[in-house]
Amino acid sequence: MAIVRHNWTRDEFLLVMNLYTKLRYGQFNYKNPEVIKLAELIGKSPGAVAFKLVHLSRQDPKHKDRVKGLANPGKNAIEMYNDFTNNWDEMLYKSELLLSKYQNKRIEELTLNQSEIKEIEDDIMLGKEGKDIERIIKSRVNQSLFRKIVINNYSNSCTICALDIKSLLVASHILKWSENFSNRLNPENGLCLCNIHDKAFELGYIGINSDYTILISKEAKNINEKQTYKSIFGRHENTSIILPDKFYPNIQFLENHLNTTFKG
Ligand SMILES: [Zn+2]
Repeated sequence: MAIVRHNWTRDEFLLVMNLYTKLRYGQFNYKNPEVIKLAELIGKSPGAVAFKLVHLSRQDPKHKDRVKGLANPGKNAIEMYNDFTNNWDEMLYKSELLLSKYQNKRIEELTLNQSEIKEIEDDIMLGKEGKDIERIIKSRVNQSLFRKIVINNYSNSCTICALDIKSLLVASHILKWSENFSNRLNPENGLCLCNIHDKAFELGYIGINSDYTILISKEAKNINEKQTYKSIFGRHENTSIILPDKFYPNIQFLENHLNTTFKG
């Protein structure tokens, strides 16, 4: 598509923010196929899209210093980032829906895998329709996006033990999603954990301090087989989690988990 120079529309910026959530900082460059694909879709140059991605990263407190030399990110980047921060649930879905329209696809085709689509078709077969189906699609799309964003943000490995087999990784919630609707899609409420550490975190055998070091509960220490304890828990105690690329785990959420779930 020919590149037409015009000011950025809000929709175009929304699509860049959507891509921002899915890429790591090192992937914000004009040679990245994802950046090129979006640039073509909205009729911008890959360089212009990459530049906007870096501008957005300036809103992330953990990246502020890294991109100090850049020109002012502009009102649009600040507003867009804040809109997402204030309402991840709606904004993420809205941006994904827009992306599906730009690509002339249904949102479930764009975001879900075959087995997830099949489950929705089964719901339709069971007689669900209209608003119910819309709600089911939205909820599945959001779950799938959260998983992709969190796992990619942690470079596809467990933040405790570094296991990097994708099928054994979970996008875990720090604040339980069933108890905290407003943060269930917030990437700062996500941790990439392997199945065993996900369960251990959920049950409170593991906690994470505000300095991102790992705490192990007394109950976990009671495992009889000392080698097993050491390999699953002990060797990680008081070491730092493997930090993500952006969207660092929210300190208040971690403290809440320590106060309500961690067994001490
Ligand atoms: Zn692990």
